[in-house]
Amino acid sequence: MIEWVRTVATMGVNAILPPRCGGCDDVTDTTHAVCAACWAGLRFITAPLCVCCGYPFELDDSANIGGDPDESGQILCGNCLQKKPAFDQARAALVYDDHSREYLLRFKHADRGDLTPLLARWVYQAGRGIWDQADLIVPVPLHRRRLLKRRYNQSGLLAAKLSRVTGVPWDGLVLARQRNTRSLGGLGPSSRKREVGGAFVVDEARAQKRNLAGARVVLVDDVLTTGATANACVRALKQSGVMHVSVITVARVVR
Ligand SMILES: [Zn+2]
Ligand SMILES: [Zn+2]
Repeated sequence: MIEWVRTVATMGVNAILPPRCGGCDDVTDTTHAVCAACWAGLRFITAPLCVCCGYPFELDDSANIGGDPDESGQILCGNCLQKKPAFDQARAALVYDDHSREYLLRFKHADRGDLTPLLARWVYQAGRGIWDQADLIVPVPLHRRRLLKRRYNQSGLLAAKLSRVTGVPWDGLVLARQRNTRSLGGLGPSSRKREVGGAFVVDEARAQKRNLAGARVVLVDDVLTTGATANACVRALKQSGVMHVSVITVARVVR
């Protein structure tokens, strides 16, 4: 669309539906913006971080750093040093806390698909250095029954937007959730792993069409909690020949 047409169209929409902050629903003066109070509450993840899982090392956090940097200067966290996750690396824009949860809940359940550009911008920045080498963006899929109820897959919206920004193709059908898993909220790490283990399958015909063998994939989701869901997706992708998977999320749990 020509830029001025878009601007006029946006003005038209704004006249009916004034843009609202993603954190508190207050009316804000610019589209996709965050009000000052909500902005102040957001905790963006910054270096130094674990080169593998993206866990941020805070200044008083030296106990969590697994070891001295290797000769390339890369640091792993204690968890990754003990056991490497199935994914090759993970990055997130925000610490998952009461503030970022507000955005994600609105994005997921409150028909705030209009937050996609804002969240995609954050996710894009969190994945700096990864997009250039990626062959395909894959959203974590919803089960079709949940998709019907919710009407859209929030991770699919992010993947589509990120694809437009980066020029990397995306595919929301190559990976499917064959079992409708319970909500993982309130479950511990091992129950989560059991619940999502084997829940994801790759559509082999589509995988071939997408040349997944040897490919580098970016898996997009809203939150990284224990990594159980991400790892289950990554295992399915790697069984189909994917070589390298980066998981990029809007937020991640830091504890
Ligand atoms: Zn706000
Ligand atoms: Zn780590």
